[in-house]
Amino acid sequence: MDAPSVVLAFAIITLLFSAGVLSVFIQGARLARKKNTFSCEQCGNCCRLRTIQLSKDDITRMEKGGLQNFYETAGGEARIKRIKGRCVFLDAGGSCSVYDIRPEVCRRFPFFTLFGIPYCRHASFCPGVENLQKCLKKAQ
Ligand code: SF4
Ligand code: SF4
Repeated sequence: MDAPSVVLAFAIITLLFSAGVLSVFIQGARLARKKNTFSCEQCGNCCRLRTIQLSKDDITRMEKGGLQNFYETAGGEARIKRIKGRCVFLDAGGSCSVYDIRPEVCRRFPFFTLFGIPYCRHASFCPGVENLQKCLKKAQ
């Protein structure tokens, strides 16, 4: 392949990748507009399948709530400890044992703000998000 062909191929790949990222972002922003219809099905998957990052405010609130030795740091981030792949605070019945003082990311999941725009994470493990996607498809 000559140099102009390589540049053209690279440009096409970059364009397709950017279009893919943009499409995912637009879809997430559209899902976020349906936030009021989101219903958590209490499956607990978000407590089993995610790493829960903690802000300084989370740590302060949780320590004030009497918790100790509940997080570890990696790559400069504080994260809730996990046991057998699950958050240490997920109880045997599948409920959060620290619900009133749980971290901010747990309160917001699956909704976030990305570049200042409300965004819903495409979490295939979350039946609530799956339902939102079905609603969105029906409305189209
Ligand atoms: S994964 Fe989704 S539906 Fe399941 S508990 Fe978390 S937010 Fe609720
Ligand atoms: S703190 Fe509670 S809500 Fe957050 S991941 Fe752990 S069990 Fe789930």
